[in-house]
Amino acid sequence: MRSFFIPRRRVSVVIPPIANNFVAAESPEGALEHAADLNKRGVSAILNLLGEHYHERTPAYGDAEEYRYLVEEIADRDLDAAVSVKPSQIGLDVGADVFAENLALVVECAVDRGVFVWVDMEDHTTTDATLDAVVENAERDGAAVGVAIQANLKRTGDDLERLADTDVRVRLVKGAYDEPSAVAHQDKARVNEAYESHLEYLFREFEAVSVGSHDPRMVSLARRLHDEYGTPYEIQMLMGVRDDAQFDLAADGVQVTQYAPYGSKWMQYFYRRVMERKENLLFAARAVLT
Ligand code: FAD
Repeated sequence: MRSFFIPRRRVSVVIPPIANNFVAAESPEGALEHAADLNKRGVSAILNLLGEHYHERTPAYGDAEEYRYLVEEIADRDLDAAVSVKPSQIGLDVGADVFAENLALVVECAVDRGVFVWVDMEDHTTTDATLDAVVENAERDGAAVGVAIQANLKRTGDDLERLADTDVRVRLVKGAYDEPSAVAHQDKARVNEAYESHLEYLFREFEAVSVGSHDPRMVSLARRLHDEYGTPYEIQMLMGVRDDAQFDLAADGVQVTQYAPYGSKWMQYFYRRVMERKENLLFAARAVLT
């Protein structure tokens, strides 16, 4: 049965040039159209409604409802697309139980509609609650659920061992949060080393692997590991980052999935992308100006 939810933002607001390289749209409609365009070019989509750290139940529930709407539209339009939710967006800052309840609402709907649900990983204080809710939801009949796991965290080897015994799919990322040295590797080279060793474990022990990285070295390693173990894999990259590589890999027969954020909070997200890597602005500006 269809949810009663009607998205709050039906009106299409145009995201200005440069920012629109990184953010699909303001409205869910625009995001769904972006997913359809990606599919036409042989790339799958993961749609993420921008938002995090809600301290009240109402906005957390509201975003969970919007994800249900997206799931229904993805199924109705027969798109090759998934959704990705942030724990603190759907209630983790209110309480682990609120997050688990809202995640269950999204997953229930996704099970009915055959849509995959990803859960992003936030800072290390949220890892246990996130994994508990993800593992619990993956136990539902027909659930297709995955979680981002961060190579910079020292605990990750243990977490992967735990997940290897479940149906949860893993998106291996390097980790985007500044973490204390007690829990995380600080040195970039050490994080890369950990990433490589965890990737090898995933190809060996999991049914399928999602490589969440723009790093050409990790993409090449995934291709080699696939040749060695035969495990299916996909490369996941963010919208606006190495877009050409995304389409080239897809044309070369690699399964590529683009993580495309959308929503009214695009300005903060765009600012983060630019601060993280100033070249992003140059790349995007060049794309607009040439
Ligand atoms: P880096 O280590 O930053 O760079 C390595 C190399 O990649 C560079 O030398 C360059 O060759 C190439 N490269 C990187 N960025 C660019 C660029 N902008 N333009 C051109 N080349 C570039 N983190 C979390 O903590 N939680 C999550 O849930 C999460 N989800 C993610 C989902 C996806 C799909 C992706 C792609 C990333 C996600 N991240 C998440 C972010 C991740 O943790 C890293 O912070 C981020 O991906 C940077 O690491 P990297 O491996 O891509 O490349």
